[in-house]
Amino acid sequence: MDQSIFLKWLGVAGIELKVNEHVLIIDPYFTRIPFFKIWFGKLKPDSKLIFEKIKYCDIVFITHSHIDHLMDVPDIIKYTGCKAYGSSNTCKLLSACGVPQELIFEIKVGDILNLGKFKLVILQANHRYIPGFSEGPLKYPLQPPFNARQYRMDTYFAFNILVNGVKFMTDPGINNLARNLKKTDVLFISASYIKEYYKLLLNKIHPKVLVPIHWDNFFSPLSKPVKPYFKTSSKTFPFLKRIDLNEFMKMIKKIDPKVEVIVPEIFHSYNIREIIKFI
Ligand SMILES: [Zn+2]
Repeated sequence: MDQSIFLKWLGVAGIELKVNEHVLIIDPYFTRIPFFKIWFGKLKPDSKLIFEKIKYCDIVFITHSHIDHLMDVPDIIKYTGCKAYGSSNTCKLLSACGVPQELIFEIKVGDILNLGKFKLVILQANHRYIPGFSEGPLKYPLQPPFNARQYRMDTYFAFNILVNGVKFMTDPGINNLARNLKKTDVLFISASYIKEYYKLLLNKIHPKVLVPIHWDNFFSPLSKPVKPYFKTSSKTFPFLKRIDLNEFMKMIKKIDPKVEVIVPEIFHSYNIREIIKFI
């Protein structure tokens, strides 16, 4: 039997894992609302673009309910009939968007799910502080379209995904060294944490492959070339620096030369089993 696992980066934190004809997607976001619009008024997903990008999906997992992780999910469910898994806030927002109740599944930290080819363990992740976008309860009434702040997060999850004998893990978030972070083969991670954290994290979970995600400028539309976004803060001049992926790769290689860093090309399909075989 074919044991291939195909991995696609969908831009921002979006990931697709495909095994035979089984497709699992995490945090798809194609609408990419421009920066100046995100602060004002009601926002609508780009339904036409979403339909263009996702033709097939069985399961969608949402790490947290911020706009750049959740906004496009209702359209994906509408087009594909897939099932969606997320926090309490995520489920309520999906429901308010008209997603049928039987396709919405609430998950909690510690849950273990066996979903056909995919086995998942739900872990706690740490979100960095963003003024105006901290965690809390939803504000009612919830009548779509929502403004950006109505996509309020409650729990932020990381996922351990076991598929065809390969372990994947999504970003555990900032400064997260929880005891239940286990050895993994492929780790998806932000490229803007500090070196000390990568050191500790890599030492704990020993990934064979590291895939930086959420490094692109997600305010810029997909019709333009993918460009790195700015680092969150810098104490040295120039204060606003773009994420430098070459620098990131060099830093990771210094920490652990055995780790293979794959800077993903958007929408390119990688056969992860082939990559791991050569390491
Ligand atoms: Zn977020």
